[in-house]
Amino acid sequence: MVAAVRVHKAGGPEVLTFEDIELPAPGPGQIRVKQGAAGINYIDTYFRQGMYPPPNGYPFTVGNEGSGEVVAVGSGVSDIKVGERVAAVAPLGGYAAERILPADRAVKVPSNISDEQAAGMMLKGMTAEYLLRRTFRVEKGHTILVHAAAGGVGLILCQWAKHLGATVIGTVGSRDKADLAKKNGADHTILYKDEDFVAKVKEFTGGRLCDVVYDGVGKTTFPASLDCIRPLGMFVSFGNASGSIEAFNINLLQAKGSLFATRPTLNTYAAKREDLLAIANSLFSTVASGKVKIPVNQRYALKDAEKAHRDLEGRATTGASILLP
Ligand code: NDP
Repeated sequence: MVAAVRVHKAGGPEVLTFEDIELPAPGPGQIRVKQGAAGINYIDTYFRQGMYPPPNGYPFTVGNEGSGEVVAVGSGVSDIKVGERVAAVAPLGGYAAERILPADRAVKVPSNISDEQAAGMMLKGMTAEYLLRRTFRVEKGHTILVHAAAGGVGLILCQWAKHLGATVIGTVGSRDKADLAKKNGADHTILYKDEDFVAKVKEFTGGRLCDVVYDGVGKTTFPASLDCIRPLGMFVSFGNASGSIEAFNINLLQAKGSLFATRPTLNTYAAKREDLLAIANSLFSTVASGKVKIPVNQRYALKDAEKAHRDLEGRATTGASILLP
């Protein structure tokens, strides 16, 4: 039996149940991992609430990210051995002391990266990598807007984009978060609960606007985000922390200056094993170079997942949060 956090029916943080579950031996192509740390991500709240239905129904173990030691391998797994340290982003099963993973989703973790760092960065950091290097390739001289700049993905985006030579504007929910975003590479911050972020972007850019907007907030920042983008620029909607963007008329993109818009997900960018490894290696080397640090700012015991979700949805966290089994 292993300790896990499960959901028996969709709902608020109170539906997260700490219990012991049976874990089978790994099947063909699978590995079993004893986790040193599990990552907490906003997507976990979408599954918990039922916004994203669990693929294999209820009950399910929450969580998509973690890092630890391989304790058993199934048949057909030749490139991963018992005793090696791996990290992964894989659907559900993450909030647990041990989990089963498809071996082709696991990535070996370099010895200079701890389980806590790996659990804090696989989903958020690989997301930052594909958003900045693949969805829209940020280069020196670009100006970008990052919403929720002090969040888990946000602080990584700010550091990495700054390192690439961009001017970074970040929206944040408080003055403390503004200070943190600035320490992590944001050139300008906007308190978007109190300030008109479109007017501030116009002011900071002298009316030129941004080459790209990275928006993980969703409902409350749309469609105003489009007014922050220069003609032919890119709108990247990558999350729904405030709720989903509702259907809109695509002619809006023409009216705002022939904009491009995309709604990407890591699942697509890392679907092929070679792409997963390329994105992970790009992240590992950038972190190893010291250009991007992974701020793990909240640590919780596995049994305290309910509090962790309340903090995340209550906008009380910054950077990455992890669970320690
Ligand atoms: P964060 O740490 O960024 O937490 C969410 C933040 O959103 C809050 O701290 C808050 O910051 C801001 N926010 C704005 N409005 C609300 C609201 N109404 N309720 C709650 N929070 C709000 O989370 P993550 O780093 O885990 O994820 C960030 C986003 O990235 C999420 O939307 C997530 O789904 C998405 N994501 C997408 C991926 C993809 O491949 N598409 C992969 C990984 C994450 P503030 O107080 O400063 O406003």
